Amino acid sequence: MKAINQTNRDFASLSPAVQRASTVVFDSLDAFVNRKHRQPDGFSYGVTGTPTARLLEDRIAALEGGRHCVITPSGAAALMTVVMGFVRGGDHLLLSAACYGALKTFGEKWLAHMGVDVELYDPSIGAGIEALIRPATRMICIEAPGTVTMEMVDVPAIAAAARRHGVLTMMDNTWASPLGFQPLAHGVDFSVEAATKFFGGHSDVLMGSISMNDADHYAVLRETQSILGQQVSPDDCFLVLRGLETLALRLRAQSDATLRVAEWLQSQPQVERLLYPPLPSDPGHGLWKRDFRTNGCLFSMVLTPAPEAAFNGFFDSLRHFAIGASWGGVHSLAAYYPAGLQAGRAFPATDRPIVRLSIGLEDVDTLKDDLRGALAAYQAQR
Ligand SMILES: *Cc1c(COP(=O)(O)O)cnc(C)c1O
Repeated sequence: MKAINQTNRDFASLSPAVQRASTVVFDSLDAFVNRKHRQPDGFSYGVTGTPTARLLEDRIAALEGGRHCVITPSGAAALMTVVMGFVRGGDHLLLSAACYGALKTFGEKWLAHMGVDVELYDPSIGAGIEALIRPATRMICIEAPGTVTMEMVDVPAIAAAARRHGVLTMMDNTWASPLGFQPLAHGVDFSVEAATKFFGGHSDVLMGSISMNDADHYAVLRETQSILGQQVSPDDCFLVLRGLETLALRLRAQSDATLRVAEWLQSQPQVERLLYPPLPSDPGHGLWKRDFRTNGCLFSMVLTPAPEAAFNGFFDSLRHFAIGASWGGVHSLAAYYPAGLQAGRAFPATDRPIVRLSIGLEDVDTLKDDLRGALAAYQAQR
Protein backbone atom coordinates (compact mmCIF):
# COMPACT_ATOMS: atom_id res chain seq x y z
CA MET A 1 0.00 0.00 0.00
CA LYS A 2 1.25 3.49 -0.80
CA ALA A 3 1.70 5.25 2.53
CA ILE A 4 1.66 8.93 1.77
CA ASN A 5 2.18 11.45 4.52
CA GLN A 6 0.98 14.79 3.28
CA THR A 7 0.34 17.57 5.77
CA ASN A 8 1.50 20.33 3.46
CA ARG A 9 0.40 20.43 -0.14
CA ASP A 10 3.97 20.94 -1.35
CA PHE A 11 5.36 18.02 0.59
CA ALA A 12 4.68 14.29 0.49
CA SER A 13 6.77 11.35 1.67
CA LEU A 14 6.61 7.58 2.14
CA SER A 15 7.43 7.95 5.81
CA PRO A 16 4.78 8.42 8.51
CA ALA A 17 4.68 11.74 10.35
CA VAL A 18 5.93 11.75 13.93
CA GLN A 19 3.39 13.98 15.63
CA ARG A 20 4.22 14.89 19.21
CA ALA A 21 1.73 16.20 21.75
CA SER A 22 0.99 16.29 25.41
CA THR A 23 -1.63 19.00 24.83
CA VAL A 24 -4.18 18.66 22.08
CA VAL A 25 -5.73 22.02 21.23
CA PHE A 26 -9.32 22.73 20.22
CA ASP A 27 -10.85 25.40 18.03
CA SER A 28 -13.82 26.19 20.28
CA LEU A 29 -14.97 25.94 23.87
CA ASP A 30 -17.61 23.40 22.86
CA ALA A 31 -14.98 21.16 21.29
CA PHE A 32 -12.86 21.41 24.46
CA VAL A 33 -15.77 20.68 26.83
CA ASN A 34 -16.82 17.68 24.77
CA ARG A 35 -13.33 16.33 24.20
CA LYS A 36 -13.96 13.08 26.10
CA HIS A 37 -16.67 12.21 23.59
CA ARG A 38 -13.94 11.78 21.01
CA GLN A 39 -12.89 8.54 22.71
CA PRO A 40 -12.04 5.78 22.08
CA ASP A 41 -10.64 6.71 18.65
CA GLY A 42 -10.18 10.48 18.65
CA PHE A 43 -7.64 12.82 20.19
CA SER A 44 -8.25 14.70 23.44
CA TYR A 45 -4.97 14.64 25.36
CA GLY A 46 -1.55 13.09 24.69
CA VAL A 47 -2.29 10.15 26.94
CA THR A 48 -5.03 8.81 24.66
CA GLY A 49 -2.68 8.86 21.69
CA THR A 50 -1.55 10.87 18.69
CA PRO A 51 -2.14 10.34 14.96
CA THR A 52 1.20 8.47 14.85
CA ALA A 53 -0.03 6.06 17.53
CA ARG A 54 -3.36 5.64 15.75
CA LEU A 55 -1.65 4.84 12.45
CA LEU A 56 0.40 2.12 14.15
CA GLU A 57 -2.70 0.75 15.89
CA ASP A 58 -4.52 0.54 12.55
CA ARG A 59 -1.62 -1.32 10.94
CA ILE A 60 -1.36 -3.82 13.80
CA ALA A 61 -5.14 -4.41 13.88
CA ALA A 62 -5.01 -5.18 10.15
CA LEU A 63 -2.15 -7.67 10.66
CA GLU A 64 -4.11 -9.40 13.43
CA GLY A 65 -7.30 -9.56 11.35
CA GLY A 66 -8.96 -7.45 14.05
CA ARG A 67 -10.97 -4.24 14.06
CA HIS A 68 -9.26 -2.42 16.95
CA CYS A 69 -5.88 -2.13 18.61
CA VAL A 70 -4.48 -0.36 21.67
CA ILE A 71 -0.71 0.04 21.96
CA THR A 72 1.12 0.17 25.28
CA PRO A 73 4.67 1.10 26.38
CA SER A 74 5.80 -2.55 26.62
CA GLY A 75 4.61 -6.08 26.03
CA ALA A 76 4.34 -6.53 29.79
CA ALA A 77 2.14 -3.41 30.00
CA ALA A 78 -0.15 -4.85 27.30
CA LEU A 79 -0.69 -8.04 29.32
CA MET A 80 -1.39 -6.15 32.57
CA THR A 81 -3.67 -3.64 30.80
CA VAL A 82 -5.96 -6.37 29.48
CA VAL A 83 -6.22 -7.94 32.93
CA MET A 84 -6.74 -4.58 34.67
CA GLY A 85 -9.42 -3.64 32.16
CA PHE A 86 -11.67 -6.58 32.92
CA VAL A 87 -10.70 -8.44 36.11
CA ARG A 88 -11.95 -7.23 39.52
CA GLY A 89 -11.79 -8.40 43.14
CA GLY A 90 -13.92 -11.52 43.57
CA ASP A 91 -13.20 -12.73 40.03
CA HIS A 92 -11.41 -15.96 39.22
CA LEU A 93 -8.50 -15.66 36.76
CA LEU A 94 -6.93 -18.65 35.01
CA LEU A 95 -3.27 -18.20 34.00
CA SER A 96 -1.17 -20.67 32.05
CA ALA A 97 1.64 -21.99 34.26
CA ALA A 98 3.93 -21.28 31.26
CA CYS A 99 2.81 -17.66 30.79
CA TYR A 100 5.20 -14.71 30.69
CA GLY A 101 6.85 -14.36 34.13
CA ALA A 102 5.75 -10.78 34.81
CA LEU A 103 2.09 -11.71 34.24
CA LYS A 104 2.36 -14.59 36.70
CA THR A 105 4.07 -12.34 39.25
CA PHE A 106 1.41 -9.65 38.73
CA GLY A 107 -1.26 -12.27 39.39
CA GLU A 108 0.39 -13.74 42.45
CA LYS A 109 1.81 -10.59 44.07
CA TRP A 110 -0.75 -7.93 43.15
CA LEU A 111 -4.06 -9.38 41.98
CA ALA A 112 -4.19 -12.08 44.66
CA HIS A 113 -3.93 -9.30 47.27
CA MET A 114 -6.68 -7.36 45.54
CA GLY A 115 -9.14 -10.21 46.01
CA VAL A 116 -8.70 -11.92 42.66
CA ASP A 117 -8.58 -15.71 42.83
CA VAL A 118 -5.61 -16.52 40.59
CA GLU A 119 -5.22 -20.12 39.47
CA LEU A 120 -2.44 -21.57 37.32
CA TYR A 121 -3.38 -24.25 34.79
CA ASP A 122 -1.34 -26.87 32.98
CA PRO A 123 -0.64 -25.45 29.47
CA SER A 124 -1.38 -28.88 27.97
CA ILE A 125 -4.89 -28.90 29.46
CA GLY A 126 -6.74 -28.26 26.15
CA ALA A 127 -10.52 -28.79 26.35
CA GLY A 128 -10.00 -29.95 29.96
CA ILE A 129 -9.98 -26.26 30.89
CA GLU A 130 -13.78 -26.49 31.06
CA ALA A 131 -13.55 -28.34 34.39
CA LEU A 132 -11.68 -25.35 35.90
CA ILE A 133 -14.25 -22.75 34.81
CA ARG A 134 -16.49 -21.53 37.66
CA PRO A 135 -19.28 -18.96 37.78
CA ALA A 136 -16.74 -16.34 38.98
CA THR A 137 -14.22 -17.08 36.20
CA ARG A 138 -13.68 -13.84 34.26
CA MET A 139 -10.68 -14.45 32.04
CA ILE A 140 -8.30 -17.13 30.78
CA CYS A 141 -4.78 -16.08 29.80
CA ILE A 142 -3.12 -18.23 27.15
CA GLU A 143 0.40 -18.22 25.76
CA ALA A 144 1.61 -20.53 23.01
CA PRO A 145 4.23 -21.80 22.93
CA GLY A 146 4.90 -21.17 26.63
CA THR A 147 7.59 -18.72 27.69
CA VAL A 148 11.00 -20.47 27.93
CA THR A 149 9.52 -23.99 28.24
CA MET A 150 7.71 -23.83 24.87
CA GLU A 151 4.69 -26.02 25.62
CA MET A 152 2.13 -25.95 22.80
CA VAL A 153 -1.45 -25.18 23.68
CA ASP A 154 -4.74 -26.18 22.06
CA VAL A 155 -5.85 -22.56 21.64
CA PRO A 156 -9.14 -23.20 19.74
CA ALA A 157 -10.25 -25.76 22.38
CA ILE A 158 -9.61 -23.34 25.26
CA ALA A 159 -11.24 -20.43 23.42
CA ALA A 160 -14.32 -22.52 22.60
CA ALA A 161 -14.73 -23.69 26.21
CA ALA A 162 -14.34 -20.10 27.45
CA ARG A 163 -16.94 -18.83 24.98
CA ARG A 164 -19.50 -21.44 26.07
CA HIS A 165 -19.24 -20.02 29.60
CA GLY A 166 -18.99 -16.31 28.73
CA VAL A 167 -15.37 -16.14 29.88
CA LEU A 168 -12.92 -13.75 28.18
CA THR A 169 -9.69 -15.06 26.65
CA MET A 170 -6.41 -13.25 26.14
CA MET A 171 -3.51 -14.78 24.24
CA ASP A 172 0.13 -13.69 24.29
CA ASN A 173 0.93 -14.33 20.62
CA THR A 174 4.44 -12.88 20.57
CA TRP A 175 6.25 -16.09 19.57
CA ALA A 176 4.39 -16.59 16.27
CA SER A 177 3.37 -12.99 15.54
CA PRO A 178 0.08 -12.55 13.66
CA LEU A 179 1.82 -13.72 10.47
CA GLY A 180 2.30 -17.13 12.10
CA PHE A 181 -0.92 -17.46 14.09
CA GLN A 182 -4.10 -15.43 14.33
CA PRO A 183 -5.63 -15.69 17.80
CA LEU A 184 -8.73 -13.66 16.88
CA ALA A 185 -9.61 -16.03 14.02
CA HIS A 186 -9.30 -18.92 16.50
CA GLY A 187 -11.90 -17.52 18.88
CA VAL A 188 -9.65 -15.57 21.27
CA ASP A 189 -10.94 -12.15 22.43
CA PHE A 190 -7.61 -10.31 22.84
CA SER A 191 -4.38 -10.91 20.93
CA VAL A 192 -1.37 -9.45 22.72
CA GLU A 193 2.03 -8.93 21.14
CA ALA A 194 5.28 -7.77 22.68
CA ALA A 195 5.99 -5.42 19.75
CA THR A 196 9.45 -5.18 21.33
CA LYS A 197 10.22 -8.48 19.61
CA PHE A 198 9.32 -9.19 15.97
CA PHE A 199 7.41 -5.96 15.23
CA GLY A 200 10.23 -3.63 16.27
CA GLY A 201 12.75 -6.23 15.19
CA HIS A 202 15.93 -4.33 16.06
CA SER A 203 16.28 -4.67 19.85
CA ASP A 204 15.93 -0.92 20.36
CA VAL A 205 12.33 -0.24 21.41
CA LEU A 206 9.85 -1.49 24.01
CA MET A 207 6.19 -1.69 23.03
CA GLY A 208 3.11 -3.85 23.30
CA SER A 209 -0.18 -4.19 21.45
CA ILE A 210 -3.64 -5.51 22.22
CA SER A 211 -5.86 -6.30 19.23
CA MET A 212 -9.54 -7.25 19.26
CA ASN A 213 -12.80 -7.14 17.32
CA ASP A 214 -15.35 -6.08 19.94
CA ALA A 215 -15.99 -2.31 20.03
CA ASP A 216 -17.08 -2.34 23.70
CA HIS A 217 -13.90 -4.15 24.71
CA TYR A 218 -11.94 -1.58 22.74
CA ALA A 219 -13.60 1.30 24.61
CA VAL A 220 -12.79 -0.35 27.95
CA LEU A 221 -9.15 -0.88 27.00
CA ARG A 222 -8.71 2.65 25.63
CA GLU A 223 -9.97 3.98 28.94
CA THR A 224 -7.80 1.57 30.96
CA GLN A 225 -4.71 2.42 28.91
CA SER A 226 -5.22 6.15 29.39
CA ILE A 227 -6.31 6.02 33.07
CA LEU A 228 -3.18 3.99 33.85
CA GLY A 229 -1.19 6.70 32.03
CA GLN A 230 0.25 4.29 29.50
CA GLN A 231 0.83 6.15 26.25
CA VAL A 232 3.65 5.49 23.81
CA SER A 233 6.02 8.08 22.40
CA PRO A 234 5.41 8.85 18.70
CA ASP A 235 9.13 8.34 18.07
CA ASP A 236 8.81 4.77 19.35
CA CYS A 237 5.70 4.35 17.19
CA PHE A 238 7.79 5.43 14.24
CA LEU A 239 10.39 2.74 14.99
CA VAL A 240 7.73 0.04 15.13
CA LEU A 241 6.02 1.35 11.97
CA ARG A 242 9.37 1.06 10.25
CA GLY A 243 9.90 -2.41 11.69
CA LEU A 244 6.56 -3.55 10.30
CA GLU A 245 7.68 -2.67 6.77
CA THR A 246 10.14 -5.60 6.85
CA LEU A 247 8.30 -7.89 9.28
CA ALA A 248 7.23 -10.48 6.71
CA LEU A 249 10.73 -10.72 5.20
CA ARG A 250 12.48 -10.88 8.55
CA LEU A 251 10.03 -13.45 9.90
CA ARG A 252 10.47 -15.69 6.88
CA ALA A 253 14.28 -15.49 6.91
CA GLN A 254 14.56 -15.96 10.69
CA SER A 255 11.99 -18.75 10.71
CA ASP A 256 13.91 -20.69 8.03
CA ALA A 257 17.26 -20.13 9.73
CA THR A 258 15.86 -21.12 13.14
CA LEU A 259 14.63 -24.49 11.91
CA ARG A 260 18.01 -25.15 10.29
CA VAL A 261 19.93 -24.30 13.47
CA ALA A 262 17.54 -26.35 15.63
CA GLU A 263 17.74 -29.40 13.34
CA TRP A 264 21.53 -29.23 13.46
CA LEU A 265 21.59 -28.84 17.25
CA GLN A 266 19.32 -31.85 17.63
CA SER A 267 22.09 -34.07 16.29
CA GLN A 268 24.81 -32.71 18.60
CA PRO A 269 25.85 -35.11 21.41
CA GLN A 270 25.74 -32.40 24.14
CA VAL A 271 22.10 -31.59 23.36
CA GLU A 272 19.69 -33.77 25.31
CA ARG A 273 16.42 -32.23 24.19
CA LEU A 274 15.15 -29.29 22.20
CA LEU A 275 11.98 -27.57 23.39
CA TYR A 276 10.71 -26.49 19.99
CA PRO A 277 7.29 -27.44 18.56
CA PRO A 278 8.31 -27.17 14.86
CA LEU A 279 10.46 -30.30 15.36
CA PRO A 280 8.53 -33.57 14.87
CA SER A 281 10.13 -34.92 18.08
CA ASP A 282 8.44 -32.20 20.19
CA PRO A 283 5.28 -33.25 22.05
CA GLY A 284 3.54 -30.10 20.81
CA HIS A 285 4.38 -30.71 17.15
CA GLY A 286 0.87 -31.88 16.18
CA LEU A 287 -0.82 -28.76 17.52
CA TRP A 288 1.86 -26.52 16.05
CA LYS A 289 1.43 -28.14 12.63
CA ARG A 290 -2.34 -27.87 12.78
CA ASP A 291 -2.50 -24.20 13.78
CA PHE A 292 0.78 -22.33 13.22
CA ARG A 293 2.37 -21.00 10.02
CA THR A 294 5.89 -20.12 11.23
CA ASN A 295 8.88 -21.73 12.93
CA GLY A 296 9.36 -18.51 14.91
CA CYS A 297 12.91 -17.50 15.77
CA LEU A 298 13.08 -18.71 19.36
CA PHE A 299 13.61 -22.09 20.98
CA SER A 300 14.99 -23.63 24.13
CA MET A 301 17.25 -26.57 24.81
CA VAL A 302 18.27 -28.85 27.64
CA LEU A 303 21.90 -29.97 27.49
CA THR A 304 23.25 -33.26 28.84
CA PRO A 305 23.97 -32.99 32.60
CA ALA A 306 27.10 -31.06 33.57
CA PRO A 307 28.33 -28.93 36.47
CA GLU A 308 27.20 -25.29 36.54
CA ALA A 309 30.64 -24.14 35.31
CA ALA A 310 30.02 -25.85 31.96
CA PHE A 311 27.37 -23.21 31.22
CA ASN A 312 29.94 -20.49 31.82
CA GLY A 313 32.09 -22.29 29.27
CA PHE A 314 29.20 -22.38 26.79
CA PHE A 315 28.12 -18.76 27.12
CA ASP A 316 31.52 -17.15 27.52
CA SER A 317 32.84 -18.74 24.33
CA LEU A 318 30.06 -17.31 22.14
CA ARG A 319 31.33 -14.79 19.58
CA HIS A 320 28.26 -14.13 17.43
CA PHE A 321 25.39 -14.80 19.82
CA ALA A 322 25.10 -11.95 22.31
CA ILE A 323 24.13 -12.89 25.87
CA GLY A 324 20.89 -11.17 26.77
CA ALA A 325 17.18 -11.38 27.48
CA SER A 326 14.51 -10.49 24.95
CA TRP A 327 14.51 -11.82 21.38
CA GLY A 328 13.06 -11.31 17.90
CA GLY A 329 15.69 -8.84 16.67
CA VAL A 330 18.08 -9.17 13.75
CA HIS A 331 20.97 -10.14 16.08
CA SER A 332 21.06 -13.62 17.58
CA LEU A 333 20.83 -13.89 21.36
CA ALA A 334 21.44 -16.55 23.99
CA ALA A 335 19.87 -16.59 27.46
CA TYR A 336 20.14 -18.91 30.45
CA TYR A 337 17.39 -20.03 32.84
CA PRO A 338 18.71 -21.89 35.89
CA ALA A 339 17.06 -25.08 37.09
CA GLY A 340 15.68 -23.34 40.19
CA LEU A 341 13.26 -21.29 38.09
CA GLN A 342 11.53 -24.43 36.87
CA ALA A 343 11.72 -26.36 40.12
CA GLY A 344 9.20 -24.19 41.95
CA ARG A 345 6.79 -24.01 39.03
CA ALA A 346 3.32 -25.51 38.85
CA PHE A 347 3.37 -28.17 36.08
CA PRO A 348 7.14 -27.89 35.43
CA ALA A 349 8.28 -28.90 31.94
CA THR A 350 11.76 -29.88 33.14
CA ASP A 351 13.82 -29.65 36.33
CA ARG A 352 16.97 -28.82 34.38
CA PRO A 353 18.66 -25.57 33.33
CA ILE A 354 17.47 -24.20 29.99
CA VAL A 355 19.44 -22.42 27.27
CA ARG A 356 17.24 -20.27 25.04
CA LEU A 357 18.34 -19.06 21.63
CA SER A 358 16.88 -16.33 19.44
CA ILE A 359 18.03 -16.56 15.84
CA GLY A 360 18.64 -13.34 13.91
CA LEU A 361 19.65 -12.59 10.35
CA GLU A 362 23.28 -13.69 10.50
CA ASP A 363 24.62 -16.40 8.20
CA VAL A 364 23.42 -19.80 9.47
CA ASP A 365 26.82 -21.48 9.10
CA THR A 366 28.43 -18.73 11.18
CA LEU A 367 25.86 -19.34 13.90
CA LYS A 368 26.41 -23.09 13.78
CA ASP A 369 30.17 -22.59 14.08
CA ASP A 370 29.60 -20.36 17.10
CA LEU A 371 27.39 -22.99 18.75
CA ARG A 372 29.85 -25.76 17.84
CA GLY A 373 32.54 -23.88 19.74
CA ALA A 374 30.22 -23.25 22.69
CA LEU A 375 29.20 -26.91 22.90
CA ALA A 376 32.88 -27.93 22.80
CA ALA A 377 33.58 -25.53 25.69
CA TYR A 378 30.62 -27.06 27.55
CA GLN A 379 31.90 -30.56 26.87
CA ALA A 380 35.34 -29.61 28.18
CA GLN A 381 33.84 -28.79 31.62
CA ARG A 382 31.78 -31.94 31.96
C1 LIG B 1 9.21 -10.18 25.89
C2 LIG B 1 7.89 -10.78 26.09
C3 LIG B 1 6.89 -10.08 26.76
C4 LIG B 1 7.14 -8.71 27.38
O1 LIG B 1 7.46 -7.76 26.44
P1 LIG B 1 8.29 -6.45 26.91
O2 LIG B 1 8.03 -5.50 25.81
O3 LIG B 1 9.71 -6.86 27.05
O4 LIG B 1 7.67 -6.01 28.20
C5 LIG B 1 5.67 -10.67 26.88
N1 LIG B 1 5.43 -11.90 26.38
C6 LIG B 1 6.36 -12.59 25.74
C7 LIG B 1 6.03 -13.94 25.20
C8 LIG B 1 7.62 -12.07 25.57
O5 LIG B 1 8.56 -12.79 24.95
